[in-house]
Amino acid sequence: MSESTAERDPNRPERGGRPDRGGRGDRGGRPDRPQTVLVVTSREQLTPGMVRVRFEAADKDVFAAGFGHSEYTDRYVKMTFPQPDGSDVVRTYTALEPNVEDGTLVIDFVVHGTEGVAGPWAAAAEPGERIAVRGPGGGYSPDPTADWHLLAADEAGLPAVRAALAAMPAEAQGYAVVHIPAEEHRQELDAPAGVQISWVTSTERDGLVDAVRALPWLPGRVYAFVHGEAEAVMHGIRPYLVKERALPRADVSISGYWRRGRTEEGFRAWKQELAASEG
Ligand SMILES: Cc1cc2nc3c(=O)[nH]c(=O)nc-3n(C[C@H](O)[C@H](O)[C@H](O)COP(=O)(O)OP(=O)(O)OC[C@H]3O[C@@H](n4cnc5c(N)ncnc54)[C@H](O)[C@@H]3O)c2cc1C
Repeated sequence: MSESTAERDPNRPERGGRPDRGGRGDRGGRPDRPQTVLVVTSREQLTPGMVRVRFEAADKDVFAAGFGHSEYTDRYVKMTFPQPDGSDVVRTYTALEPNVEDGTLVIDFVVHGTEGVAGPWAAAAEPGERIAVRGPGGGYSPDPTADWHLLAADEAGLPAVRAALAAMPAEAQGYAVVHIPAEEHRQELDAPAGVQISWVTSTERDGLVDAVRALPWLPGRVYAFVHGEAEAVMHGIRPYLVKERALPRADVSISGYWRRGRTEEGFRAWKQELAASEG
């Protein structure tokens, strides 16, 4: 599977020859990532639609075994939410600011209403709550040899954009375009002076796509990181970059992070159908 035929699946190798190095072993081709238990230490409302939850690992050695090796800025964890009926629901989130010595990390959750499992959980998370996670996986970090960077995301991809911007050298050039529902969802975002940040509040379905297409194209080799709602990313931005702009597969990291109208389970099924239909 490649970016030009289907979106990146966080469980699969990704991005032009850079494998997902999230695991230490192999379970029938899938990475065997260490599991650790995280304990909530605080919850902060960042914007009307986003909460930041801080965690501390119950076992710092297990945490260090996983996060001590993570070199990617889009590093993510698979969080397990036990359900009242005894089943487990798994959700995927970007792991920010892992601190191996302290055993801490931060996750910024979109709270998208009362639907779903992870969003409502985060909205009400209280210090002391425990949650099992596996990871981290990941596959992208800003390419220091690129002439410029193009980052595009919605709120779900914003944490990964934040981490990428923080890892860029001061002289980095490019754009970061973030779609938010309205002005009050805008966040503080540090970036190198040469990386222009745009907040897109268009209520049009193609708001993010249109904003990316409208960017003046810069000279030299671009490296693109594009993650957000799957339709916008895979059917809107991917053809623009891969076909119209002819970016080589190795210079793009593109995937859907969620799919409008589908739970994460439904989204996984959609991804499989898309991959099958595209061969
Ligand atoms: C590698 C990776 C990293 C990710 N990192 C983050 C992150 O750091 N922060 C983050 O918030 N999300 C992140 N996501 C997206 C997150 O996993 C999904 O949004 C997930 O579906 C949320 O689970 P849920 O239980 O809240 O909702 P679900 O039960 O999956 O869905 C319930 C309903 O909510 C809708 N929905 C789901 N997500 C959103 C959304 N973001 N906005 C509006 N409606 C939505 C669905 O379409 C569905 O109708 C990431 C995804 C991936 C693959």
